[in-house]
Amino acid sequence: MKKAVVALGVSGALVAGWYAFSHFGHFGHDHAHSHDHGHNHSHSHDHGAGGHAHGVGQMSLFVDNTDVSLFFHAPAGDVIGFEHYPRDEEERAHAGAALTFLASGEWMQFPQRAECTLQSGTADSDQLDEANEGHADVTVDLMFTCERPRHLTQATVQLFETYSALERIDAHWIRGNNTDTAELTPAITTFRIR
Ligand SMILES: [Zn+2]
Repeated sequence: MKKAVVALGVSGALVAGWYAFSHFGHFGHDHAHSHDHGHNHSHSHDHGAGGHAHGVGQMSLFVDNTDVSLFFHAPAGDVIGFEHYPRDEEERAHAGAALTFLASGEWMQFPQRAECTLQSGTADSDQLDEANEGHADVTVDLMFTCERPRHLTQATVQLFETYSALERIDAHWIRGNNTDTAELTPAITTFRIR
């Protein structure tokens, strides 16, 4: 496994969705990533306060009618357990398993009545790039379709149980003219969406 990009049917819709998403502005973390899905991870780790802070992840959710785009970003050390290039098959398998889980979207819960299903999911870490040195991040892109979006009133993130090193997720959502932020912790894993 050269690249641990787990793609569950990447579609044009995902690309289009992401394009709109990434151009929606600044979600409070102005890091200099280029999220062009594995072609060029030009990370800069000195992107100001709150950049790659261990224990802190960032999440952005963009709702456009039935389409929900989710972006999650966290230090690799918090979700994989290390940030160096895998030293052996065991570490490589461990990283791969974590990325597979993150790409599955199973950790993201919407109200059942909203009838949301995952359309595509990718997860990648720049620690799998042999040239990468020092810190590494995990990036996750998920795309859901919710058949009954009016019931999409909240979202629950189930990551803290699995990843105890993760202390906080700064979440941000946008839906039409509504937008808000939420600070998620092991004690507060649900945020409301209007
Ligand atoms: Zn780090």
